Amino acid sequence: MKVLIAEDDRVTLRLMENRLQRWGYEVITATNGMEAWERLQEDDCPRLALVDWMMPELDGLEVCKRVRKLVPEPYRYIIMLTAKGGQEDIVEGLEAGADDYLTKPVEMQELKVRLRAGERIVDLQTQLLKARDALRHQASHDALTGLWNRSTILDAVDREFSRAVRERSPVALVMADIDHFKMVNDTYGHPAGDAVLRVVASRLREGMRRYDVMGRYGGEEFLLLLPGCNRENAEVQTERLRRLISDVPVEYEGLMIPVALSLGVSVNAGTAQVDPDASIKLADAALYRAKAKGRNRVEFADPPSS
Ligand code: GH3
Ligand code: MG
Ligand code: MG
Ligand code: MG
Repeated sequence: MKVLIAEDDRVTLRLMENRLQRWGYEVITATNGMEAWERLQEDDCPRLALVDWMMPELDGLEVCKRVRKLVPEPYRYIIMLTAKGGQEDIVEGLEAGADDYLTKPVEMQELKVRLRAGERIVDLQTQLLKARDALRHQASHDALTGLWNRSTILDAVDREFSRAVRERSPVALVMADIDHFKMVNDTYGHPAGDAVLRVVASRLREGMRRYDVMGRYGGEEFLLLLPGCNRENAEVQTERLRRLISDVPVEYEGLMIPVALSLGVSVNAGTAQVDPDASIKLADAALYRAKAKGRNRVEFADPPSS
């Protein structure tokens, strides 16, 4: 683990640096408070710091106060080094945001165990942040395909529609549904169906433009949003996506599974306040028509009255 030692007395600094290195820490040094403050703001900053109270430019107390005003992630555990052992000084140091303190001259065994206590806190926060990020990802993504899930794509639809209106640019909303998917499951088995879903998702994702967004809307249904697409562009884009699926069968455990997609599209000119829900309903109705007309095709909703 990386540890910052901020200490203006070079003898003490070297002594601690040597010890910490021997204990397996990666040591970063600073000889004044300003340097310490800079190191502690860096992206890959040390999470554990030994900060001397009395230092030129910026004292340790001020360093603590500044660090605590930063965002709380990652947490920087600060041990204040002080020659002042009075109770009032200790209170002042802890109040400034130090987590712990050591009185000088530093007793090495004590330094070792206090560092270890700090390390436990830092490790704990790392684990908690990791768990939180994993949960956030789980809550917003679909586990099978890795795509955004329904609620996340719906949020994105709201955002993109607001943006389209603001920028007066068109946006196309696409509902895509795999044809006769139940038959894939019935014929090849559920795991094969899962594989088909994953392949369809990845082909669509790779076929999209950089600023298009997509999510898994339901079982074998995907919602795509193509910003900047008027009717004409949307025709080209969706036809391309349709063919990405139907042109090449999905290979699964030596089987070649033919797959096709029906798409319903509603294009919004972006000139008036538009309702994302209404747009989804229109795309849905167009999708229904694509199914009725024989599947593996793209149908457009009637343009909203203009
Ligand atoms: P259509 O062409 O009219 O869309 O027919 P379809 O068979 O695709 O539509 P239907 O709604 O009848 O069937 C959808 C099937 O998708 C039923 C359901 O069991 C299956 N399904 C939904 N989610 C999953 C999944 O995550 N994995 C697998 N393997 N199957 C799924
Ligand atoms: Mg000093
Ligand atoms: Mg289907
Ligand atoms: Mg369906």
